Amino acid sequence: MTKSVHVIRKAHTVVGFDAGRKSHVYFQDADVAYDDTGFIHVGGHYDGAFASETSGADRMVMPGFVNVHCHSGEEPISKGIFEDAGTSALWGNALYEYSNLLEIDDGAIEASLTVMLGDLMRSGVTTLLDIAGPHESWLPTLAQSGARAYVAPGFREAQWHVEDSHRLDFIWDKARGREAFARALDVVDAAASHPSGRLGGVVAPSQIETCSAELLQDAAAEARKRGMPITIHSAQTMAEHEELLRRTGLTAVQYLESLGILGDNLILGHCIFVDSHSWTRQRTDIDLGLLAARRTTVGHCPVTFSRSGMALESVGRYRRAGVNVALGTDSYPFNMLEEMRQAMICARLSGKSVFDVSTADILETATLAGARALGRDDIGRVAVGAKADFLVVDLKHHAMQPIYDPLRNLLHCAAERAIEEVYVDGQCVVRHGRPTMIDYDGAVALLQEAQDYACRKAPENDPKKRPMRDLAPLSLPIGR
Ligand SMILES: [Zn+2]
Repeated sequence: MTKSVHVIRKAHTVVGFDAGRKSHVYFQDADVAYDDTGFIHVGGHYDGAFASETSGADRMVMPGFVNVHCHSGEEPISKGIFEDAGTSALWGNALYEYSNLLEIDDGAIEASLTVMLGDLMRSGVTTLLDIAGPHESWLPTLAQSGARAYVAPGFREAQWHVEDSHRLDFIWDKARGREAFARALDVVDAAASHPSGRLGGVVAPSQIETCSAELLQDAAAEARKRGMPITIHSAQTMAEHEELLRRTGLTAVQYLESLGILGDNLILGHCIFVDSHSWTRQRTDIDLGLLAARRTTVGHCPVTFSRSGMALESVGRYRRAGVNVALGTDSYPFNMLEEMRQAMICARLSGKSVFDVSTADILETATLAGARALGRDDIGRVAVGAKADFLVVDLKHHAMQPIYDPLRNLLHCAAERAIEEVYVDGQCVVRHGRPTMIDYDGAVALLQEAQDYACRKAPENDPKKRPMRDLAPLSLPIGR
Protein backbone atom coordinates (compact mmCIF):
# COMPACT_ATOMS: atom_id res chain seq x y z
CA MET A 1 0.00 0.00 0.00
CA THR A 2 1.33 3.43 -0.95
CA LYS A 3 1.38 5.74 1.99
CA SER A 4 0.05 9.18 1.22
CA VAL A 5 1.40 11.54 3.87
CA HIS A 6 -0.38 14.85 4.43
CA VAL A 7 1.15 17.68 6.47
CA ILE A 8 -0.63 20.48 8.32
CA ARG A 9 2.04 23.21 8.50
CA LYS A 10 2.55 25.49 11.47
CA ALA A 11 -0.81 24.97 13.11
CA HIS A 12 -1.54 27.85 15.52
CA THR A 13 -2.36 25.28 18.23
CA VAL A 14 -2.10 21.51 18.41
CA VAL A 15 -3.63 19.66 21.37
CA GLY A 16 -1.00 16.93 21.44
CA PHE A 17 -0.41 14.10 23.87
CA ASP A 18 2.57 14.14 26.25
CA ALA A 19 3.42 10.53 27.06
CA GLY A 20 5.51 11.58 30.07
CA ARG A 21 2.69 13.60 31.62
CA LYS A 22 0.08 11.11 30.31
CA SER A 23 -2.05 14.10 29.37
CA HIS A 24 -2.83 16.57 26.62
CA VAL A 25 -0.59 19.60 26.15
CA TYR A 26 -0.63 22.61 23.85
CA PHE A 27 1.92 22.77 21.03
CA GLN A 28 2.16 26.11 19.26
CA ASP A 29 3.18 26.70 15.63
CA ALA A 30 3.49 22.96 15.22
CA ASP A 31 3.47 20.62 12.22
CA VAL A 32 1.25 17.53 12.13
CA ALA A 33 1.92 14.77 9.55
CA TYR A 34 -0.34 11.76 9.09
CA ASP A 35 -1.45 9.11 6.67
CA ASP A 36 -4.22 6.51 6.76
CA THR A 37 -2.30 4.42 9.29
CA GLY A 38 -1.95 7.23 11.84
CA PHE A 39 0.09 10.22 12.97
CA ILE A 40 3.71 10.27 11.77
CA HIS A 41 4.81 13.55 13.29
CA VAL A 42 3.42 15.96 15.91
CA GLY A 43 5.41 19.00 17.04
CA GLY A 44 8.16 21.12 15.44
CA HIS A 45 9.06 21.20 11.78
CA TYR A 46 8.40 18.01 9.80
CA ASP A 47 11.03 17.49 7.13
CA GLY A 48 10.07 14.01 5.94
CA ALA A 49 8.52 13.07 2.60
CA PHE A 50 4.93 14.04 1.99
CA ALA A 51 2.31 14.01 -0.76
CA SER A 52 0.36 17.15 0.15
CA GLU A 53 0.30 19.98 2.69
CA THR A 54 -2.06 22.66 4.00
CA SER A 55 -1.53 25.70 6.18
CA GLY A 56 -2.41 25.42 9.86
CA ALA A 57 -2.59 29.20 10.32
CA ASP A 58 -5.57 30.15 12.52
CA ARG A 59 -6.30 26.46 13.07
CA MET A 60 -6.34 24.21 16.13
CA VAL A 61 -5.72 20.48 15.58
CA MET A 62 -7.10 18.40 18.43
CA PRO A 63 -8.10 14.79 19.16
CA GLY A 64 -11.48 13.49 17.99
CA PHE A 65 -13.89 12.64 20.79
CA VAL A 66 -14.68 9.15 22.08
CA ASN A 67 -18.39 8.73 22.88
CA VAL A 68 -18.81 5.66 25.09
CA HIS A 69 -22.61 5.66 25.30
CA CYS A 70 -25.22 6.51 22.68
CA HIS A 71 -28.36 4.94 21.26
CA SER A 72 -29.49 4.98 17.65
CA GLY A 73 -32.77 3.03 17.27
CA GLU A 74 -35.72 5.08 18.52
CA GLU A 75 -33.76 7.89 20.14
CA PRO A 76 -33.35 10.14 17.07
CA ILE A 77 -37.13 10.13 16.45
CA SER A 78 -37.95 10.87 20.10
CA LYS A 79 -36.73 14.45 19.80
CA GLY A 80 -39.19 17.07 21.04
CA ILE A 81 -41.79 14.72 22.52
CA PHE A 82 -41.25 13.72 26.15
CA GLU A 83 -38.86 16.41 27.42
CA ASP A 84 -41.50 17.73 29.83
CA ALA A 85 -42.80 14.28 30.86
CA GLY A 86 -42.06 12.14 33.89
CA THR A 87 -43.66 9.67 36.30
CA SER A 88 -43.90 11.44 39.62
CA ALA A 89 -44.21 8.19 41.61
CA LEU A 90 -40.94 7.03 40.02
CA TRP A 91 -38.81 10.00 41.04
CA GLY A 92 -39.98 12.05 38.06
CA ASN A 93 -38.16 9.81 35.62
CA ALA A 94 -39.73 9.34 32.17
CA LEU A 95 -37.71 6.24 31.28
CA TYR A 96 -40.07 3.50 32.41
CA GLU A 97 -43.44 4.87 31.41
CA TYR A 98 -42.55 6.71 28.21
CA SER A 99 -39.44 5.23 26.58
CA ASN A 100 -41.21 2.09 25.36
CA LEU A 101 -44.07 3.97 23.71
CA LEU A 102 -42.29 5.02 20.54
CA GLU A 103 -41.28 2.42 17.99
CA ILE A 104 -39.48 2.84 14.73
CA ASP A 105 -40.53 0.95 11.63
CA ASP A 106 -37.85 -1.11 9.88
CA GLY A 107 -37.80 1.23 6.90
CA ALA A 108 -36.64 4.16 9.00
CA ILE A 109 -34.03 2.49 11.18
CA GLU A 110 -31.16 3.19 8.79
CA ALA A 111 -32.19 6.85 8.48
CA SER A 112 -32.36 7.14 12.24
CA LEU A 113 -28.84 5.73 12.59
CA THR A 114 -27.56 7.99 9.80
CA VAL A 115 -28.91 11.11 11.50
CA MET A 116 -27.31 10.12 14.80
CA LEU A 117 -23.97 9.49 13.09
CA GLY A 118 -24.09 12.81 11.25
CA ASP A 119 -24.96 14.75 14.41
CA LEU A 120 -22.27 13.03 16.46
CA MET A 121 -19.51 13.35 13.89
CA ARG A 122 -20.05 17.03 13.24
CA SER A 123 -19.82 17.64 16.98
CA GLY A 124 -16.36 16.08 16.85
CA VAL A 125 -17.03 12.41 17.66
CA THR A 126 -14.64 10.08 15.86
CA THR A 127 -15.30 6.94 17.95
CA LEU A 128 -18.71 5.92 19.27
CA LEU A 129 -20.33 3.07 21.14
CA ASP A 130 -23.90 2.48 19.90
CA ILE A 131 -26.21 0.49 22.18
CA ALA A 132 -29.20 -0.57 20.08
CA GLY A 133 -31.23 -3.48 18.77
CA PRO A 134 -29.35 -5.25 15.95
CA HIS A 135 -30.56 -4.81 12.37
CA GLU A 136 -29.20 -5.60 8.93
CA SER A 137 -28.11 -2.10 8.01
CA TRP A 138 -26.28 -1.48 11.31
CA LEU A 139 -22.73 -2.55 10.42
CA PRO A 140 -22.87 -1.42 6.75
CA THR A 141 -24.13 2.07 7.70
CA LEU A 142 -21.57 2.48 10.47
CA ALA A 143 -18.76 1.38 8.14
CA GLN A 144 -20.01 3.70 5.38
CA SER A 145 -20.08 6.72 7.70
CA GLY A 146 -16.30 6.64 8.11
CA ALA A 147 -16.58 6.75 11.92
CA ARG A 148 -14.86 4.34 14.27
CA ALA A 149 -17.71 2.47 15.89
CA TYR A 150 -18.44 -0.17 18.51
CA VAL A 151 -21.76 -1.98 18.25
CA ALA A 152 -23.39 -2.97 21.51
CA PRO A 153 -26.50 -5.04 20.72
CA GLY A 154 -28.66 -4.89 23.84
CA PHE A 155 -30.35 -7.94 25.34
CA ARG A 156 -32.44 -8.49 28.46
CA GLU A 157 -34.72 -11.02 30.09
CA ALA A 158 -37.30 -8.65 31.58
CA GLN A 159 -39.43 -5.91 30.08
CA TRP A 160 -40.52 -2.90 32.12
CA HIS A 161 -44.19 -2.43 32.85
CA VAL A 162 -45.53 0.58 34.72
CA GLU A 163 -48.84 -0.21 36.36
CA ASP A 164 -51.20 2.73 36.66
CA SER A 165 -48.41 5.30 36.40
CA HIS A 166 -46.92 4.40 39.76
CA ARG A 167 -45.53 0.88 40.13
CA LEU A 168 -42.61 -0.50 38.13
CA ASP A 169 -43.05 -4.22 37.38
CA PHE A 170 -40.82 -6.62 35.49
CA ILE A 171 -42.20 -9.13 33.00
CA TRP A 172 -39.65 -11.91 32.70
CA ASP A 173 -39.04 -14.08 29.64
CA LYS A 174 -35.68 -15.74 30.15
CA ALA A 175 -35.78 -17.84 26.97
CA ARG A 176 -36.26 -14.72 24.87
CA GLY A 177 -33.42 -13.01 26.70
CA ARG A 178 -31.08 -15.93 26.02
CA GLU A 179 -31.99 -15.90 22.31
CA ALA A 180 -31.22 -12.18 22.11
CA PHE A 181 -27.92 -12.82 23.94
CA ALA A 182 -26.90 -15.45 21.35
CA ARG A 183 -27.82 -13.12 18.49
CA ALA A 184 -25.87 -10.29 20.12
CA LEU A 185 -22.72 -12.43 20.30
CA ASP A 186 -22.98 -13.14 16.55
CA VAL A 187 -23.24 -9.42 15.86
CA VAL A 188 -20.26 -8.41 18.04
CA ASP A 189 -18.16 -11.14 16.41
CA ALA A 190 -19.13 -9.89 12.95
CA ALA A 191 -18.19 -6.34 13.95
CA ALA A 192 -14.82 -7.40 15.35
CA SER A 193 -13.91 -9.13 12.09
CA HIS A 194 -15.40 -6.44 9.82
CA PRO A 195 -13.15 -5.72 6.80
CA SER A 196 -13.27 -1.94 7.42
CA GLY A 197 -11.07 -2.45 10.49
CA ARG A 198 -12.96 0.41 12.16
CA LEU A 199 -15.73 -1.61 13.83
CA GLY A 200 -15.68 -3.42 17.14
CA GLY A 201 -18.12 -5.16 19.45
CA VAL A 202 -19.22 -4.62 23.03
CA VAL A 203 -21.27 -7.13 25.05
CA ALA A 204 -24.30 -5.24 26.36
CA PRO A 205 -26.78 -6.67 28.88
CA SER A 206 -29.28 -3.81 28.62
CA GLN A 207 -29.92 -2.98 32.27
CA ILE A 208 -28.67 -4.41 35.53
CA GLU A 209 -32.23 -4.98 36.81
CA THR A 210 -33.63 -6.59 33.62
CA CYS A 211 -31.05 -9.40 33.54
CA SER A 212 -30.65 -12.28 35.97
CA ALA A 213 -27.39 -12.72 37.85
CA GLU A 214 -26.65 -15.76 35.65
CA LEU A 215 -27.09 -13.82 32.43
CA LEU A 216 -24.91 -10.95 33.69
CA GLN A 217 -22.18 -13.41 34.66
CA ASP A 218 -22.38 -15.30 31.36
CA ALA A 219 -22.24 -12.01 29.46
CA ALA A 220 -19.15 -10.97 31.43
CA ALA A 221 -17.51 -14.33 30.68
CA GLU A 222 -18.20 -14.01 26.95
CA ALA A 223 -16.78 -10.47 26.94
CA ARG A 224 -13.63 -11.63 28.74
CA LYS A 225 -13.23 -14.58 26.37
CA ARG A 226 -13.33 -12.21 23.40
CA GLY A 227 -11.19 -9.47 25.00
CA MET A 228 -14.14 -7.12 24.52
CA PRO A 229 -15.61 -4.39 26.70
CA ILE A 230 -18.95 -4.96 28.42
CA THR A 231 -21.46 -2.22 29.15
CA ILE A 232 -24.53 -2.26 31.41
CA HIS A 233 -26.95 0.52 32.39
CA SER A 234 -26.45 0.58 36.16
CA ALA A 235 -27.36 2.98 38.96
CA GLN A 236 -29.20 5.07 36.37
CA THR A 237 -32.43 5.76 38.28
CA MET A 238 -33.72 5.73 41.84
CA ALA A 239 -36.40 3.20 40.83
CA GLU A 240 -33.66 0.78 39.77
CA HIS A 241 -31.64 1.55 42.90
CA GLU A 242 -34.59 0.74 45.15
CA GLU A 243 -35.49 -2.39 43.16
CA LEU A 244 -31.94 -3.74 43.60
CA LEU A 245 -32.00 -2.92 47.31
CA ARG A 246 -35.30 -4.82 47.60
CA ARG A 247 -33.93 -7.82 45.69
CA THR A 248 -30.39 -8.01 46.99
CA GLY A 249 -29.83 -5.45 49.75
CA LEU A 250 -27.02 -4.03 47.62
CA THR A 251 -26.40 -0.99 45.45
CA ALA A 252 -25.79 -1.63 41.75
CA VAL A 253 -22.03 -1.28 42.17
CA GLN A 254 -21.92 -3.60 45.19
CA TYR A 255 -24.16 -6.12 43.44
CA LEU A 256 -21.85 -6.23 40.39
CA GLU A 257 -18.87 -6.62 42.74
CA SER A 258 -20.63 -9.55 44.44
CA LEU A 259 -21.10 -11.16 41.00
CA GLY A 260 -17.41 -10.69 40.15
CA ILE A 261 -18.24 -8.46 37.18
CA LEU A 262 -16.56 -5.18 38.12
CA GLY A 263 -13.39 -4.89 36.06
CA ASP A 264 -11.39 -2.68 33.73
CA ASN A 265 -13.39 -3.80 30.67
CA LEU A 266 -16.71 -2.74 32.21
CA ILE A 267 -18.46 0.53 31.32
CA LEU A 268 -21.37 1.35 33.61
CA GLY A 269 -24.02 3.39 31.81
CA HIS A 270 -24.64 6.49 33.96
CA CYS A 271 -23.82 5.20 37.45
CA ILE A 272 -25.45 8.18 39.14
CA PHE A 273 -27.13 6.63 42.18
CA VAL A 274 -24.16 5.27 44.10
CA ASP A 275 -24.41 4.84 47.86
CA SER A 276 -23.04 8.33 48.54
CA HIS A 277 -25.54 10.15 46.26
CA SER A 278 -27.67 12.60 48.23
CA TRP A 279 -30.96 11.01 47.04
CA THR A 280 -30.16 7.50 48.27
CA ARG A 281 -30.93 6.24 51.74
CA GLN A 282 -27.47 4.82 52.41
CA ARG A 283 -25.17 6.72 54.68
CA THR A 284 -22.05 5.02 53.36
CA ASP A 285 -19.33 5.83 50.82
CA ILE A 286 -18.25 2.46 49.45
CA ASP A 287 -19.14 2.44 45.75
CA LEU A 288 -16.64 4.92 44.32
CA GLY A 289 -13.78 3.11 46.05
CA LEU A 290 -14.94 -0.18 44.51
CA LEU A 291 -15.14 1.34 41.03
CA ALA A 292 -11.66 2.83 41.39
CA ALA A 293 -10.13 -0.37 42.75
CA ARG A 294 -11.59 -2.42 39.87
CA ARG A 295 -10.73 0.29 37.30
CA THR A 296 -14.30 0.26 36.07
CA THR A 297 -15.45 3.11 33.81
CA VAL A 298 -18.49 5.30 34.33
CA GLY A 299 -20.19 6.30 31.06
CA HIS A 300 -21.41 9.75 32.05
CA CYS A 301 -24.21 11.35 29.98
CA PRO A 302 -25.24 14.56 31.76
CA VAL A 303 -27.59 16.10 29.16
CA THR A 304 -30.44 13.56 29.22
CA PHE A 305 -30.35 13.18 32.99
CA SER A 306 -30.07 16.84 33.91
CA ARG A 307 -33.03 17.41 31.56
CA SER A 308 -34.99 15.26 34.07
CA GLY A 309 -33.53 17.01 37.11
CA MET A 310 -30.93 14.35 37.93
CA ALA A 311 -27.19 14.72 38.26
CA LEU A 312 -24.18 12.60 39.03
CA GLU A 313 -22.56 13.94 42.23
CA SER A 314 -20.01 14.89 40.93
CA VAL A 315 -17.55 14.28 38.10
CA GLY A 316 -14.79 15.88 40.16
CA ARG A 317 -15.60 13.72 43.19
CA TYR A 318 -15.58 10.53 41.08
CA ARG A 319 -12.27 11.52 39.49
CA ARG A 320 -10.68 12.39 42.83
CA ALA A 321 -11.75 8.94 44.09
CA GLY A 322 -9.81 7.46 41.15
CA VAL A 323 -12.78 6.49 38.95
CA ASN A 324 -12.34 6.58 35.17
CA VAL A 325 -15.19 8.86 34.06
CA ALA A 326 -15.76 8.78 30.29
CA LEU A 327 -18.39 10.70 28.38
CA GLY A 328 -21.38 9.70 26.26
CA THR A 329 -24.33 11.50 24.73
CA ASP A 330 -27.01 8.87 25.38
CA SER A 331 -29.75 10.43 23.25
CA TYR A 332 -30.39 13.59 21.20
CA PRO A 333 -29.12 16.20 20.59
CA PHE A 334 -26.15 13.84 19.95
CA ASN A 335 -23.80 16.77 20.39
CA MET A 336 -20.57 15.89 22.17
CA LEU A 337 -19.38 19.46 22.75
CA GLU A 338 -22.75 20.33 24.27
CA GLU A 339 -22.39 17.22 26.44
CA MET A 340 -18.92 18.36 27.54
CA ARG A 341 -20.18 21.80 28.49
CA GLN A 342 -23.11 20.32 30.40
CA ALA A 343 -20.75 17.87 32.15
CA MET A 344 -18.71 20.82 33.36
CA ILE A 345 -21.73 22.83 34.48
CA CYS A 346 -23.41 19.86 36.23
CA ALA A 347 -20.16 18.96 37.99
CA ARG A 348 -19.70 22.51 39.28
CA LEU A 349 -23.35 22.73 40.39
CA SER A 350 -23.46 19.37 42.14
CA GLY A 351 -19.90 19.75 43.43
CA LYS A 352 -20.84 23.29 44.54
CA SER A 353 -17.51 24.58 43.31
CA VAL A 354 -15.83 26.01 40.25
CA PHE A 355 -12.87 23.84 41.25
CA ASP A 356 -14.82 20.56 40.89
CA VAL A 357 -13.58 20.03 37.31
CA SER A 358 -11.44 22.04 34.91
CA THR A 359 -11.75 22.44 31.16
CA ALA A 360 -8.78 20.08 30.80
CA ASP A 361 -10.51 17.47 33.01
CA ILE A 362 -13.57 17.47 30.76
CA LEU A 363 -11.45 17.19 27.62
CA GLU A 364 -9.83 14.14 29.20
CA THR A 365 -13.21 12.51 29.93
CA ALA A 366 -14.17 12.97 26.25
CA THR A 367 -10.89 11.60 24.88
CA LEU A 368 -8.36 9.66 26.96
CA ALA A 369 -10.88 8.26 29.47
CA GLY A 370 -13.06 6.95 26.64
CA ALA A 371 -10.05 5.34 24.99
CA ARG A 372 -9.14 3.73 28.33
CA ALA A 373 -12.69 2.40 28.67
CA LEU A 374 -12.37 0.69 25.29
CA GLY A 375 -8.93 -0.69 26.17
CA ARG A 376 -7.15 1.42 23.55
CA ASP A 377 -4.08 3.60 23.67
CA ASP A 378 -4.20 4.57 19.99
CA ILE A 379 -7.27 6.85 19.96
CA GLY A 380 -8.35 9.98 21.84
CA ARG A 381 -4.95 11.61 21.38
CA VAL A 382 -2.85 13.38 18.79
CA ALA A 383 0.45 11.52 19.07
CA VAL A 384 2.87 9.68 16.81
CA GLY A 385 1.61 6.11 16.34
CA ALA A 386 -1.99 6.90 17.26
CA LYS A 387 -4.80 6.70 14.70
CA ALA A 388 -5.26 9.90 12.70
CA ASP A 389 -8.65 10.71 14.30
CA PHE A 390 -8.73 14.47 14.79
CA LEU A 391 -10.58 17.76 14.47
CA VAL A 392 -9.57 20.97 12.75
CA VAL A 393 -11.03 23.98 14.56
CA ASP A 394 -11.34 27.39 12.88
CA LEU A 395 -9.89 29.87 15.37
CA LYS A 396 -11.10 32.76 13.22
CA HIS A 397 -14.76 31.73 13.63
CA HIS A 398 -16.63 34.61 15.30
CA ALA A 399 -17.60 32.35 18.21
CA MET A 400 -13.90 31.69 18.87
CA GLN A 401 -12.96 35.41 18.96
CA PRO A 402 -11.20 36.94 20.80
CA ILE A 403 -8.84 34.14 21.70
CA TYR A 404 -6.72 33.65 24.80
CA ASP A 405 -7.13 29.93 25.44
CA PRO A 406 -8.61 28.07 22.44
CA LEU A 407 -9.98 25.06 24.36
CA ARG A 408 -11.92 27.29 26.73
CA ASN A 409 -13.36 29.17 23.76
CA LEU A 410 -14.41 25.90 22.14
CA LEU A 411 -15.91 24.23 25.23
CA HIS A 412 -17.51 27.24 26.90
CA CYS A 413 -18.60 29.23 23.84
CA ALA A 414 -18.26 28.08 20.25
CA ALA A 415 -18.96 24.32 20.49
CA GLU A 416 -19.40 22.53 17.15
CA ARG A 417 -19.90 25.75 15.20
CA ALA A 418 -16.13 26.23 15.03
CA ILE A 419 -15.32 22.69 13.88
CA GLU A 420 -14.16 22.95 10.29
CA GLU A 421 -13.23 19.35 9.56
CA VAL A 422 -13.30 15.95 11.25
CA TYR A 423 -10.95 13.13 10.30
CA VAL A 424 -10.97 9.41 11.05
CA ASP A 425 -8.02 7.29 9.90
CA GLY A 426 -6.80 10.39 8.07
CA GLN A 427 -9.98 10.53 5.99
CA CYS A 428 -12.22 13.63 6.11
CA VAL A 429 -15.67 12.55 7.38
CA VAL A 430 -17.09 16.04 8.06
CA ARG A 431 -16.31 19.26 6.20
CA HIS A 432 -17.88 22.60 7.21
CA GLY A 433 -20.55 20.82 9.26
CA ARG A 434 -21.50 18.41 6.47
CA PRO A 435 -20.88 14.65 6.81
CA THR A 436 -19.01 13.63 3.65
CA MET A 437 -19.67 9.88 3.52
CA ILE A 438 -23.40 9.59 4.29
CA ASP A 439 -26.62 11.10 2.92
CA TYR A 440 -27.47 13.07 6.06
CA ASP A 441 -30.08 15.35 4.43
CA GLY A 442 -31.83 12.38 2.85
CA ALA A 443 -31.98 10.66 6.22
CA VAL A 444 -33.35 13.75 7.98
CA ALA A 445 -36.10 13.96 5.35
CA LEU A 446 -37.24 10.43 6.31
CA LEU A 447 -37.43 11.12 10.04
CA GLN A 448 -40.66 13.14 10.06
CA GLU A 449 -42.54 10.21 8.57
CA ALA A 450 -40.95 7.88 11.11
CA GLN A 451 -41.88 10.16 14.00
CA ASP A 452 -45.46 10.51 12.73
CA TYR A 453 -45.72 6.71 12.55
CA ALA A 454 -44.32 6.34 16.07
CA CYS A 455 -46.78 8.90 17.45
CA ARG A 456 -49.73 7.16 15.76
CA LYS A 457 -48.64 3.82 17.28
CA ALA A 458 -47.77 5.14 20.75
CA PRO A 459 -51.26 4.84 22.30
CA GLU A 460 -51.29 1.12 21.37
CA ASN A 461 -48.11 0.64 23.41
CA ASP A 462 -49.46 2.54 26.43
CA PRO A 463 -51.13 0.35 29.08
CA LYS A 464 -53.67 3.16 29.60
CA LYS A 465 -54.14 3.69 25.81
CA ARG A 466 -53.83 7.46 26.20
CA PRO A 467 -53.80 9.58 23.03
CA MET A 468 -50.60 11.47 22.22
CA ARG A 469 -52.12 14.82 23.24
CA ASP A 470 -52.41 13.42 26.78
CA LEU A 471 -49.09 11.56 26.76
CA ALA A 472 -47.15 14.54 25.45
CA PRO A 473 -49.14 17.78 25.43
CA LEU A 474 -47.62 20.48 23.21
CA SER A 475 -45.56 22.99 25.15
CA LEU A 476 -48.02 25.76 24.24
CA PRO A 477 -51.77 25.57 23.63
CA ILE A 478 -52.97 26.07 20.05
CA GLY A 479 -54.25 29.63 19.59
CA ARG A 480 -57.42 30.56 17.74
ZN1 LIG B 1 -28.37 4.58 27.70
